[in-house]
Amino acid sequence: MYRWEISGTVCSGMNMLLLNVYVVMCHLDVIAARFLTFHQMYSYERRLETFADWPFREDCQCTPELMAKAGFVHCPSENEPDVACCFYCLKELEGWEPEDIPWSEHAKRSPDCGFLQMKSFHKLTAIDFFRLEHGRIRNYVRKMAHMKIAHFRDEMENTSKNLRILFDIL
Ligand SMILES: [Zn+2]
Repeated sequence: MYRWEISGTVCSGMNMLLLNVYVVMCHLDVIAARFLTFHQMYSYERRLETFADWPFREDCQCTPELMAKAGFVHCPSENEPDVACCFYCLKELEGWEPEDIPWSEHAKRSPDCGFLQMKSFHKLTAIDFFRLEHGRIRNYVRKMAHMKIAHFRDEMENTSKNLRILFDIL
């Protein structure tokens, strides 16, 4: 009985830890997949195509056209149908309201995004494009590093918590 309680408590903590690892790894995979395809999203038309099922249309500030003009790509999931992600800085925004102005929201949440200073895609030179891609790769590496560090920190805290529980029981 005593052993069962100990193993049950620790197993429960371990299951939560494993679930957390799984969720984080899935999200890292999603970010990686987006990064690999988003090089096509320099084009306004390509971004606009992703908003075919976007819920905000007439009488809204965040129409598909304005979302695409602000650099967003529609990335819905089953649980989050209104997730939009900037193709350049990979900032994700959800919980949109009809009165939200996409460009303003983007500037507010990711003020250093290189897309916000980018000239029209059709006016980019090869050197401009190379520099922008360099920045996009840097954003991706930085985001992945931050997420992995945060995940590692969570794992450390959970492990520490489980060990404290175990020591308290012993
Ligand atoms: Zn951005």
